[in-house]
Amino acid sequence: MSGTLVVAEHVEGRLRDVTRELVTAAQDLPRPVAVAVIAGNPASLADSIDLEGVDDVVAVTAGGDEFENDVYQDAVEALIAARQPDVVVLGFTVNSMGFAPAVAAKLGLGFASDVFGFSIESGQVVARRSFYGAKVHAEVELPSGVPAVLLLRPTVWAQAEGSGGASRTELAVETRTPRARHVRFVEAPVADVDITAADFLLSIGRGIGDKENIERFQRLAEKMGATLSVSRPIVDSGWMPSARQVGQSGKTVKPKVYLAFGISGAVQHLAGMKASGTIIAVNTDPEAAIFGVAHYGGVVDLFDVADELEKLY
Ligand SMILES: Cc1cc2nc3c(=O)[nH]c(=O)nc-3n(C[C@H](O)[C@H](O)[C@H](O)COP(=O)(O)OP(=O)(O)OC[C@H]3O[C@@H](n4cnc5c(N)ncnc54)[C@H](O)[C@@H]3O)c2cc1C
Repeated sequence: MSGTLVVAEHVEGRLRDVTRELVTAAQDLPRPVAVAVIAGNPASLADSIDLEGVDDVVAVTAGGDEFENDVYQDAVEALIAARQPDVVVLGFTVNSMGFAPAVAAKLGLGFASDVFGFSIESGQVVARRSFYGAKVHAEVELPSGVPAVLLLRPTVWAQAEGSGGASRTELAVETRTPRARHVRFVEAPVADVDITAADFLLSIGRGIGDKENIERFQRLAEKMGATLSVSRPIVDSGWMPSARQVGQSGKTVKPKVYLAFGISGAVQHLAGMKASGTIIAVNTDPEAAIFGVAHYGGVVDLFDVADELEKLY
């Protein structure tokens, strides 16, 4: 066995950001680092995957242009058989969650999902992940002697950049006829914005008090050039769609600025935003846990702050 195999994610002919994050993470795993791109015509994506730190780009011809669960399962099994990697890394994404556990179970491999850190101790992979609703962080020892499959949490690692001088390998894989086929992408309703792509999030929690106040903060976010995100109670109350929710059961975000209004900072919320560039918290309770991760904070009524910001913008 040797090296690390990264399984690239792509959509509509573009690499997904998580792939570049996986390449960064792989720099701390056994070399060589190979990145596999699985597609009907993988050659067209191979150039964009030749990033700094990539030793080999494996173009796997299988399936169609877009992700299909059964195709990826068969292709990753074939890749593992062909390359015998020490570690296989994939994104902890809806795509990988569907097929990667099946690959690991079928081949008897080590497996850990939602991994946010790892180390290699005496040749053995030790993955860090959370348990019990993110209340406990634990280290998981993966068995040695078989490849370890790690699903890495998006946005934890920086994105690899630059261009490398990776070698190219080709592999054609015969896959079964998928039981579910990709037909087409359907645009999400306008309300369902992608809060994970925003540089600046104005995030509101139960502290805003009433549904009637949502509109005010939506307007304020717009004026400030921010995207509005929320804590879970706002979604549970039916005041905003779940696409706006930050946290363990919502989205993991990493904006440059995260401005939190009336959010206490429960572990499940922090799990989704604590990697943000600059965190600013506004809360009337000086003991609120959000201040534990905030770079700047104000123990002040959020409506007073909103009044002042509305004058500024
Ligand atoms: C399995 C599980 C998964 C979960 N997933 C998520 C998740 O993904 N995302 C998430 O957010 N939560 C999640 N939760 C819920 C989480 O535990 C908390 O209940 C939730 O985050 C609390 O939201 P909040 O901070 O808005 O509300 P609260 O905890 O009620 O905090 C409101 C805060 O507003 C402050 N405040 C009140 N009035 C004002 C004012 N006028 N000015 C300034 N500050 C004021 C208060 O001091 C308080 O700190 C999950 C829970 C479980 C069990």
